[in-house]
Amino acid sequence: MLPAYISHSDCVRHEMGEHHPECPERIGAVKDHLLMSGLLSFMQSHDAPLATDEQLGRAHALTYVHELAGKVPPEGYVHIDPDTLMNPYTFQAALRAAGAAVLGTDLVMTGQASVAFCNVRPPGHHAERGAAGGFCFLNNVAIGIRHALEVYGLERVALIDFDVHHGNGSEDILADDARVLMCSTFEEGIYPFCGSTPKGRNMINVGLPSRVGGREFRAAVEHGWLPALHEFRPQMIFISAGFDGHREDDMGNLGLVEADFEWVTQQVVQVAQRYARGRIVSCLEGGYVMSPLGRSAAAHVRALTGAD
Ligand SMILES: [Zn+2]
Repeated sequence: MLPAYISHSDCVRHEMGEHHPECPERIGAVKDHLLMSGLLSFMQSHDAPLATDEQLGRAHALTYVHELAGKVPPEGYVHIDPDTLMNPYTFQAALRAAGAAVLGTDLVMTGQASVAFCNVRPPGHHAERGAAGGFCFLNNVAIGIRHALEVYGLERVALIDFDVHHGNGSEDILADDARVLMCSTFEEGIYPFCGSTPKGRNMINVGLPSRVGGREFRAAVEHGWLPALHEFRPQMIFISAGFDGHREDDMGNLGLVEADFEWVTQQVVQVAQRYARGRIVSCLEGGYVMSPLGRSAAAHVRALTGAD
């Protein structure tokens, strides 16, 4: 049973202007590093399908989804917020990114893949139930999680979010859903300027001061996340895999390196192997400087797939 790699060429057609950090080249940077490190050659590659209204409606208000579809410009851009823009291909790309999380769930739940990594954009964890923002339109991991809960009847699913930004959209959708435990670390004082006060009792939010480095990040995982995960005993785990906490990424200042992303992934894999038959679906979120993004994603996938 091979790990799955899920992506789509539509994810490269969405772009938000020449100098926007959430750029199409991110997909190639991740894929190139997976190729160069030899990881991609033993993964099964899949094209992401388009997510359906039924799947989207488990995490979003369908009125919001349809309004978003109606905003697609025939050419040029429309602004959703100052940093979040749609071009003619954005909605299609967002449907592919969400569809990747759904396909990853299907492959892992039916035993066709050990784990799945979704190399997709636009990212999703800032998209709320009824609002886009922070480069995100549809909340890919939340759509995957609700698919796992509703279609496969799982009772406990965990979401791990180590992006440098707090996953406010995931929190908005999943707060007080007792079937879900969300564990988030993030840098305090940066976008989206929330997270320190959790919105639900199923949220483990650990804000970290700027420039703390890997030691404090690992301590937050060990003391904040792991006890809660062992108590929750998740039957499946989703990861919002953002690599913008890397010290070479100027979007944040946490000072993490590849080894930290590898380590945190290993911790999640151990929890998944103990309680969840190893079932993990990981979706790309942030990471905006190409070289550290590619290197970090490769370190993450190496740990995720147990390829050492
Ligand atoms: Zn981020």
